[in-house]
Amino acid sequence: MSQPDPNHHIRRVVLPSGRSIEVVYFESPGDSTTVRPAAREQKVTDLHVCPQCENDMVYPVEWEEVSPTHWEVALRCPSCEWDHVGVYDQATVDSFDDELDRGTETLLRDLKRLTRANMEEELERFSEALGADALWPMDF
Ligand SMILES: [Zn+2]
Repeated sequence: MSQPDPNHHIRRVVLPSGRSIEVVYFESPGDSTTVRPAAREQKVTDLHVCPQCENDMVYPVEWEEVSPTHWEVALRCPSCEWDHVGVYDQATVDSFDDELDRGTETLLRDLKRLTRANMEEELERFSEALGADALWPMDF
């Protein structure tokens, strides 16, 4: 499984829980030479938006190529536990991928802010406890 394969690459996505998942992309060799008819305009679905609670943090649990143009994606919403497996076209998956890139950045920013806020809160509690004589040097 960890053997490098030129036909697929792995990207790591870190979830709000701190757990990281690996998204595997499969590339089929003939893809770049495929000429797509310009007339075939397809509606792009916003995969990152949960149809149930409208949270925009839906992420892929599994991601697998089912044909040269379509992907089977297992989705999950971290907010309401909604999950779904669907087959989507390349354009939809591409736009989801862009969205994930943005989402991951936002997530990391939020996480950093959150960590800092938690630390400040804890320090505050600690100094309040000190001020209130709630801490006794019993362990010494
Ligand atoms: Zn949801």
